[in-house]
Amino acid sequence: MKYEEMKPREINHVLRTCPLAYLVWGSHEWHGPQNPIGLDTLKAHRMALELCAVTGGVVLPPVYCGYQTMKPCARFRHTFEFSKELVNQYVYEHLENLYDEGFKMIVILMGHYGAKHVETVKAAVERFTEKHRYPRVLAMADYEPAGWVNVRGGDHGGKNETSLMMHYRPDLVDLSRLPQGRLIHSRDGISEDAKEATAEHGAMLARVFVEQAAPRIKALLKEAMDNWPAEVSNGD
Ligand SMILES: [Zn+2]
Repeated sequence: MKYEEMKPREINHVLRTCPLAYLVWGSHEWHGPQNPIGLDTLKAHRMALELCAVTGGVVLPPVYCGYQTMKPCARFRHTFEFSKELVNQYVYEHLENLYDEGFKMIVILMGHYGAKHVETVKAAVERFTEKHRYPRVLAMADYEPAGWVNVRGGDHGGKNETSLMMHYRPDLVDLSRLPQGRLIHSRDGISEDAKEATAEHGAMLARVFVEQAAPRIKALLKEAMDNWPAEVSNGD
């Protein structure tokens, strides 16, 4: 299901049976001294792979291209800030390519979710859906599906994101790097509850994500396939 590892025959089979693509959108961004710089992307990629195992489809290689990161707002280092225009265009051209290849539904899973970044991704989706009537595109932050049942997520390197990372890649998290003997504050560039992170909490968030997202995505895909006129081939 990793697009870059699939052979043409395998992709053709997916396009015939389950034309669904996951596009994981992340960043390189400071997530505290305890977390890897690629947290947003590593986390969302694992979430997409687990979701894809239930729904079918393919997962594109994750894109590291964040706008509105910790760099312009507070000069946190090891962070790459890309422009709004680039993010918009890069999302848009991914959608055009996926559609042209025959995907009927595309899910953009955002691991990085500054408000302006999300707005930019959604603006690109709108530009695409204004042009193409039949494909379905769902752009969502990775914490949204759990939010449908009031499970809160979506912090910044705090309890939730750190826990997810501890669940997926415990080898990449070191809680002993967090400030000792004092509270965490905004100058640390992470949410204040980071010390409460556990792999168990991460496992719960990961499970609720798939439980909530899978049925909704399957329903949207079915709708897209049912409504697809026989005479309209992709690339219209
Ligand atoms: Zn993050």
